[in-house]
Parts: sequence; C-alpha cells; structure tokens
Amino acid sequence: MTDIILKSAACILTMDDDRRELAGADIRIRDGVIAEIGHGLEGGEIDLAEGCLVTPGLVNTHHHLYQSLTRAVPAAQDALLFGWLQTLYPIWARFGPEEMFVSAQVGLAELALSGCTLSSDHLYLYPNGSRLDDTIAAAAEIGLRFHPTRGAMSIGESDGGLPPDALVEREAAILEDCIRVVDAFHDPAEGSMCRVGIAPCSPFSVSRELMRDAAILARDKGVMLHTHLAENDEDIAYSLEKFGCRPGQYAEDLGWTGADVWHAHCVKIDGQEIDLFAKSGTGVAHGPCSNCRLGSGIAPVRAMRDAGMKVGLGVDGSASNDSGNLVAEARQAMLLQRVAGGADAMSAREALRIATRGGAEVLGRPDCGQIAVGKRADIALWDMRGIEAAGSWDLAAILLAGPLKVRDLFVEGRKIVSMGTLLSVDLPVLMDRQRKLALKLAM
Ligand SMILES: [Zn+2]
Repeated sequence: MTDIILKSAACILTMDDDRRELAGADIRIRDGVIAEIGHGLEGGEIDLAEGCLVTPGLVNTHHHLYQSLTRAVPAAQDALLFGWLQTLYPIWARFGPEEMFVSAQVGLAELALSGCTLSSDHLYLYPNGSRLDDTIAAAAEIGLRFHPTRGAMSIGESDGGLPPDALVEREAAILEDCIRVVDAFHDPAEGSMCRVGIAPCSPFSVSRELMRDAAILARDKGVMLHTHLAENDEDIAYSLEKFGCRPGQYAEDLGWTGADVWHAHCVKIDGQEIDLFAKSGTGVAHGPCSNCRLGSGIAPVRAMRDAGMKVGLGVDGSASNDSGNLVAEARQAMLLQRVAGGADAMSAREALRIATRGGAEVLGRPDCGQIAVGKRADIALWDMRGIEAAGSWDLAAILLAGPLKVRDLFVEGRKIVSMGTLLSVDLPVLMDRQRKLALKLAM
C-alpha cells in the first residue's frame, strides 16, 4: 500500500509519553501504522493538513449503540435513572436485528464525525432474535475499531428486578452466547479491529452467581469485563440493602477488579474504592453528559486521576445523553470537574488526554490513543480555520475553542471521514432508514 503523508499540520498534539506538541510537522502512515513523524517527509500520497490540529482518534469506552433510535423520548426526558429505564424497556422490547444494526450504524457514524476511532459498546438486551453479531456487522461497515461487549440481564420483574421478564435471559444461555461471540469475533492481536468483552448489565440486573461466572469465563478466554457500577445514590442504597456492602466491595468479592475490568460511571465511589481500583488497575468509563442528563452527580475524576486510576470517556447510550458526540463529551468532562473543583481542576489538554490515551488504556489498547511511531494510525484532523476556533491563541486547547466535528478521520490508516463527510456509509440513506424504524417504534 502507498504511504500516506499528513503534511504540514498546524499542530500535532501527540499524547505521547513526552506530551509533545509539534508545529508544522508531518506524519507518515504505512500499512495502518504511524511509520514516521518529522518535518519535510516525502515519498507518498500527500494529504494536506495545513490549518489543522491533529490528535489521536478519540476513544469511547461506554455506549449503548442500540439506544440511538430512542433519543428524547418524551416520558423519559425528565425521569430519574430507574424510572427512565422502566419507561424505555417496553420500547426496546420491540427491537429486532434490523433495529440493532441501524441504531449501531447511526451511533458509530455520529462518533466518527466527532473524532472517535475506537468505540466499545454495551449491548445487554437481545429481543426478537437480535444478536451481538448485528452490531459487529454495523461497525465493520462504518470502519471504526470496535470493542463490543456481550451484556446481559437475568433478573426480571417477577424476580424483583427492574426489566420486564421478556427482556431477560436464562443465565446458562447468557454464558453460552458469551462463549459463542468471543470464539467467533474476538481478535486479541495488536492492531485488532474487533475485541469482544463480557458485560452483565449491572449488579442489580443479574445474580451474584452470573457476575462471578462471567469473571471466570472472561479470564478463561482472555477478554475484558465491563458493567455499570455506583452510578447514583439509588445504586449505592440498593447495594447496601441487597448485598450488605458498597459496590466496590461487591465488585472485588466477585472478581470484578483488575487491569482487564472497566466500570461505567462510578459517580459515587468513595476514597477506599478509588484506592482499590487504582491499585488493581481497574478502569472507569466516565460519562459526564449522562451523569448530568440523569442528575446522577459529579464523578470524582480529579481524585481518580490523582490516585493513578485509569479513566476514559464514554458518551453512554444516546437515550441518556441524548447526544453521541465524543469531543463534546470531552469538553463536558472538563467543565464538570471545574464545577466541582474550580477552574484549575481540569485543563483542556488533560480532558483531551483522557478522551484519547486514557480511553485506550482503559480498553487495554497500548497500540492506540497516541501519535507515536509504531502506534496504530488512528488519527483525527480538526480544521481550526472555521468560526469555532476563530480568535483562538492556542489550537491545542480545542476543548475551549474549536470545532465539534472532525475534518478528516483515519482508522488503521484508512480514511473514514473526508472534509466532514463520512466515506464508508451513505449517511442520507442511513438517516432515511433510521427515521422509518424510529417512526414505527413510536407508533
Ligand atoms: Zn450505560
């Protein structure tokens, strides 16, 4: 394959170990990898990056792509978490494979346009023949690096749980399907485009046994574990009442700590839990928009980072954001820490580092998340000559002043977005398809 040379970037924010910021430099992409960084590179297909800030592609560590067809549902707009879920469950119960495929493409397209090159997904309900396979097929077409997780719920209403019985599965069947999708789709190799994780929805929607068995299975298969944890006050109260301990303790008891585990939210974890996660290498997917949207609170991200915890960003499901713009999420992460801790609580550069390298660390991808020789060529170009960045004295502070959409996006050296247009999928056709499905669901 011909080399691609990204030429004359106004600024390259590398997120490498030395936190280098390079002016007027070039990047050589060869066979999906960053082969060279320097000035005056030649011998390849030239792609002009003049006027652009170049960053590593952003990494999304928590999403429920299927929710992209249920944004701004009126009855759920102002509900708290548990009431919100009970409003949406009956709508999601009507989904099938086509809804899963189309919603995943919508969510991934939105992520791509906002600079994301690697996304995880947490799919925990499988109505009417839906499978994880539907979302994996969707991601392959869009061209993003994808970490789908096989989620699950097993405690339905008749067992005292929140979801309707029609949306829960038998635990034996859940574990069987986890094995099936890991064997079929998980690629552990460096540069992998698809890694599968195992992800019971939350401690309140599956049994203690399934949490434990999922952890054993994940270790046996060498895949990662993911769930929701300590999202809000109700969540903590539930844990204390049902399990007699806080969520961190529950997680530790069942094997849910370690470098191969990441938890979504952790808004309400305390100092002890932060120490536990920091020492064990357990990661967190921080979702500031979702936390604001659902009124869950402000996650102690400053304390997590200071303790050495791995923190990444997640837009969370579109039904609880209701946007899926990852660079906007990074801006929100910066702003929300400032609400809690003052104007110096988080810089624009730190929030962007969390959104790129931080996310790659959380997902166990040292080969991604930075612009350095030998790393995967997952790269976002931001045009800083538009109105959003006009007057900016510091292009690298894109989260303070800068565009919320990429100009170009490369994944594994392949151009997915060019001049703000998604190349891999015909967006108007996709939008037409999603409108029809959303209308049917609203009937
Ligand atoms: Zn979530």
